[in-house]
Amino acid sequence: MDRVGEKDRMKEKEFRDALEDMVDQFAYPLDDPPRITTGGLSALEHAFDVLGYPDPKEMPERKCQYENCNKTATSGIPTRHGYKRVCLEHLIVKNKPNYR
Ligand SMILES: [Zn+2]
Repeated sequence: MDRVGEKDRMKEKEFRDALEDMVDQFAYPLDDPPRITTGGLSALEHAFDVLGYPDPKEMPERKCQYENCNKTATSGIPTRHGYKRVCLEHLIVKNKPNYR
């Protein structure tokens, strides 16, 4: 059993997870369809390159959960139907009567 190799693989996975989290939080959102982009920032370009991401990268899981919206969710709000990821526009209109 190669304990050092296993430790290195666990550390590499942790680094990759941390980089994915950073990119997910700081890359620029694009809409229709939901995507993220580096916006030409060299630090994000480097991270996208290391992760093997195209620029822009499609992010279907980041679609705003407001009905018929095809923007990228950048925020989240609690609703009576549970926590929803929403775009900035729908974060602002969250109190419209047909949303909750
Ligand atoms: Zn929306």
